Amino acid sequence: MNKPINRRKILKNAGVGVAAAALPLSIARAAKPKVVVVGGGPGGATAAHYIAKDSKGAIDVTLVEPNKAYTTCFFSNWYIGGFRNFESITHSYSGLADIGINIVHQMATGIDPDEKTLTLADGAKLPYDRLILAPGIDFKYGEIDGYGPDATQIMPHAYKAGPQTVLLHDQLHAMKDGGLFIMVAPPNPYRCPPGPYERISMVAHYLKNNKPKSKILILDPKGKFSKMALFQEAWGRYYDGMIEWLPREMLSGGVNAVHTASMSVKTPDEEFKGDVVNVIPPQTAGKIARDTGLADVTGWCPIVPATMESKLVADIHLVGDSTIAGDMPKSGFSANSQAKACAMAIRHALIDSRAFPPRFANTCWSLLAPSDAVKVGASYQATEEKIAKIDGFISKTGESGTLRADNAKEAVGWYSGITADMFG
Ligand SMILES: Cc1cc2nc3c(=O)[nH]c(=O)nc-3n(C[C@H](O)[C@H](O)[C@H](O)COP(=O)(O)OP(=O)(O)OC[C@H]3O[C@@H](n4cnc5c(N)ncnc54)[C@H](O)[C@@H]3O)c2cc1C
Repeated sequence: MNKPINRRKILKNAGVGVAAAALPLSIARAAKPKVVVVGGGPGGATAAHYIAKDSKGAIDVTLVEPNKAYTTCFFSNWYIGGFRNFESITHSYSGLADIGINIVHQMATGIDPDEKTLTLADGAKLPYDRLILAPGIDFKYGEIDGYGPDATQIMPHAYKAGPQTVLLHDQLHAMKDGGLFIMVAPPNPYRCPPGPYERISMVAHYLKNNKPKSKILILDPKGKFSKMALFQEAWGRYYDGMIEWLPREMLSGGVNAVHTASMSVKTPDEEFKGDVVNVIPPQTAGKIARDTGLADVTGWCPIVPATMESKLVADIHLVGDSTIAGDMPKSGFSANSQAKACAMAIRHALIDSRAFPPRFANTCWSLLAPSDAVKVGASYQATEEKIAKIDGFISKTGESGTLRADNAKEAVGWYSGITADMFG
């Protein structure tokens, strides 16, 4: 097993005072072991929850997250399709505060792995015995010419949930009947492999019922996608003639530029103009992980499968979308599952609680139409090399309506369960 090596200070935050750094350390380290968690999504919130809950106060847990509330990407497509309201996919951190977790609403800006401190945006430093990073993804702006942070206000990605999701929803609702919705799909690897195609199903559902003369065009840098046969069967059944999918072979390699003023999307040979344009850019691990030397040349973070500890820096663990998690896809379910394994390993390391060989699981449901959902899932174990798939399942084309309706109910139950597991 690769043992992480400690590095010299990997990110110095300009303007941080020496006094702020020195004072709390000696005092704080004498007390309970400290775990600091960066990121309050399914990875970070679950890890913080399980360490605090299962250590029964023996470990001091701090969660660092800039936002006061978390909107889930999962079920954000349901919101776009009209199956959920925005409030129902937005959650506060008060349940975690209630069980004694210190919640710090700031960005983390740097890590000193020798001193074992995390630096915050205001310059304060938090000492840790173990640090968990769960910052999710960032976008590789610049890979599509003309698509940067400003362009997201006109052509939303809606792939980090929140204001972007509302913007895409509102643009869809304002679109004229007979308009064209264009999605620029992302290349692998990206969060939630079926996510873009569930979104297309939800957009089609909305348009069919409200603006039936409209069309949808998917410009895809891939030649195939998750649950493809299931989505294509559903698109034929429910939204026949509305959706056109153009794979990479038909796009001379894919979209290489956008022009927001004309709402156009360009490939090397063609230009497409849309009324609503949803660009989901190429992705990489969250900035804090890349800036602090936790990502490798792939832009993602290698981990020791059994503990989710970084292979590059000691005493720092990573969970969720920013990791290289072997056979596991980047999903909220996966992040939640990894966080529990990570929490167990850290409790074992800090307070000698019992640890077992971790088991991981994932299931991703996708809603195709009212009362018709499909699912794909697997269980996994930690090997020396990676998180390896043990067995899996996937819905089949031609299944009964009853089975599909049961899947949709199951998805709703899962949503309640995972959000309770994350936020207490
Ligand atoms: C449209 C869509 C549909 C999806 N549907 C599903 C689904 O049905 N099922 C499923 O399992 N998954 C689904 N997913 C995927 C799922 O949302 C992600 O895999 C999951 O959110 C990853 O969790 P995470 O904790 O790694 O990252 P995130 O959820 O992105 O959380 C990261 C958190 O870290 C914070 N952060 C980042 N940097 C810093 C910093 N420097 N300091 C402090 N905080 C920081 C961010 O503010 C954020 O709150 C979907 C995703 C999308 C986009």
